[in-house]
Amino acid sequence: MDRFMDALEQGNLETLRKYPKADLHNHFALGGSRRFLYQATGKKIEPLVHPLASMAEMDQWSQKYIGQYFNSTEGRKLLIRATFQQAKEDGVTVLEIGEDVWGLKEFFHNDIDELVESFTSAQREIAPEIELRLQIGLSRHCPISYLEDCLSYFWGNKNFYSIDLYGDEFAQPIENFKGIYRRAKKEGLRLKAHVGEWGTAKDIRTAVEELELDEVQHGIAAAGDESVIRFLAENKIRLNITPMSNVLLGRVADMAEHPIGKLYRSGIDVTINSDDVLIFDSDVSKEYLQLYEAQCLTAEELENIRKNGLKPAML
Ligand SMILES: [Zn+2]
Repeated sequence: MDRFMDALEQGNLETLRKYPKADLHNHFALGGSRRFLYQATGKKIEPLVHPLASMAEMDQWSQKYIGQYFNSTEGRKLLIRATFQQAKEDGVTVLEIGEDVWGLKEFFHNDIDELVESFTSAQREIAPEIELRLQIGLSRHCPISYLEDCLSYFWGNKNFYSIDLYGDEFAQPIENFKGIYRRAKKEGLRLKAHVGEWGTAKDIRTAVEELELDEVQHGIAAAGDESVIRFLAENKIRLNITPMSNVLLGRVADMAEHPIGKLYRSGIDVTINSDDVLIFDSDVSKEYLQLYEAQCLTAEELENIRKNGLKPAML
C-alpha cells in the first residue's frame, strides 16, 4: 500500500505534506505562508471563514489584508519569499507563479532582470529543491494596447515558462487576446487562461480554440457539457483546479459535489492546486485531504492526480 494513500485514509496532513506535489494555479501575492508574514510584519492575515457572495467581496478582503501593506518593492519581494516558504512547508516541488505585467513598473522599476531575480533568488534561498515555472500574468480588464506595452519588456526573456490571463472573466471578449497569445506561442510559452470558473462550458471551448490554450485555470464549468468534456480530453487540455476556492466562492455547493471527480473520470488531465492560500486556507495537501474526506475522489485517484501533476507538461 502506498504511503500517500495511507496518509489520506488516516487523515494525516503532516505526512501528506511530505509528498511531492505540483501547484500550477497559485497567485503568489496571496499564496504566502501566514506565519512567515506574521513573523516578518507583525500583521495577522485572517483566512475566510464563510463563503463569499462575489468577487467584489474577495477584492475587499485583499484590500483589508494585503493592499496597502505590501504595495512596495520590498513588500512585493516579501510576498514572493512567503510563497516559497509556504510551498516548501506544503511539500510543493513544482511551483508555477509569476508577476502581473503591470507589476514590472509598479514594483520593479521597469527592470525585467530585477523582477526575474526577485523570484529566482527567493527560490535559491528558501526552497532550491522546488522547480520554479515562472509565469507572465495578465489582467482581463486591462486595455490590450496597455498589456502589449507592458509585455514588450517580457518578450524574448527566456526565464518565463507560461502566460496566464485572470481577473473578471466577463471584462472583455477572449478573442481580444488572440494577438497576444499568438506572440506568446511564438515565444515558446505554455498558454493558460482562467475560464469556466464563472463562465460556461462553451466559454471554455471558445477560449481554448481562440487562444490555442494548453491549460485552463479552473475550467470546472466543462462538467455540464459532454461535448466540451470530450473536446478537452481528446485535445489533452489540462485543467488546473482549485476546489476549496471554488466552494468558498460559491461556484460549487461543497467538496463532495465538486466536478473534479467527473472531469477526472472522463479522462481529462486535471491537477489540484491552491489558488490563494492566504484567503482560502487551501494549501495543496489540505485540498487533497478534503477531496478524499468528502468522498469526491478515492485515495487511488488522488494519488494518480498527484503523480500526473509532477510530470513535465511539455509533450
Ligand atoms: Zn486563479
